[in-house]
Amino acid sequence: MTARELLTRCAAAGITLAAEAGRLRVAGPAEAVRELTPLLREHRDELLVLLAGSSAAPALTGGAPDPGVPADRTCAACAHRTSAGTCARPVEAGLAAHFAIRWPPAGHAAVCKAFERQQLAAHGSGTQTHPFETARRNWTPATAKELAAMEQRHRRAVVLGLDPQQADLASDVLHWRDRTGDDRRLCLECRSLRVGTTSRWHCAALHLPLAQQLVTQPHRCETFQDLQEERHGD
Ligand code: SF4
Ligand code: SF4
Repeated sequence: MTARELLTRCAAAGITLAAEAGRLRVAGPAEAVRELTPLLREHRDELLVLLAGSSAAPALTGGAPDPGVPADRTCAACAHRTSAGTCARPVEAGLAAHFAIRWPPAGHAAVCKAFERQQLAAHGSGTQTHPFETARRNWTPATAKELAAMEQRHRRAVVLGLDPQQADLASDVLHWRDRTGDDRRLCLECRSLRVGTTSRWHCAALHLPLAQQLVTQPHRCETFQDLQEERHGD
């Protein structure tokens, strides 16, 4: 396994890595950290280089940073950074040609076309933001059909392990996604989403654990398979 593959594996397992004063800081689920500690030790020096965004980092797509870019324009301040430190919009961010788990290199946010500053912590969900906040300002009451869809999605979200507040947010995100005609999807709508054993969620198509943002925030995934189509095909 290369250091870069290890970064991806850590991100998928919900492990956050940071380089601090030449030391590798590791945080995340205890079991996953225990399992990956030997590999983290083995690749420590390469990981420090990657995390520091050295020449080993992947080529960026957005050109040189604009000197006028605010210093606080970082992935940590972006609505699309997952709790594992990966990017929930890797295609739009120029990190991948199709949906994949990607750890943005240091400094990428300064040139990232997909950067969106976190604006509000919605429904008490911590740093998770509502991706359709602008559209929601033109609120009109939901129709009976929309309400039925929201209830169905809320039930599925709870069955899949979201707490009621997170399920509220996810069903509201989907409601506004549909209203705005956005073409992005949530893992929550995909037939490959599973409740995990060693992680909270697991993707049966990619054979990877999934961070919550991928489950509840819209993105474009090449391997997405619509749950509704499965139902209609029954
Ligand atoms: S969208 Fe861009 S700025 Fe935001 S987390 Fe992804 S790479 Fe970072
Ligand atoms: S295949 Fe489905 S569950 Fe897996 S990452 Fe893509 S959208 Fe999510």
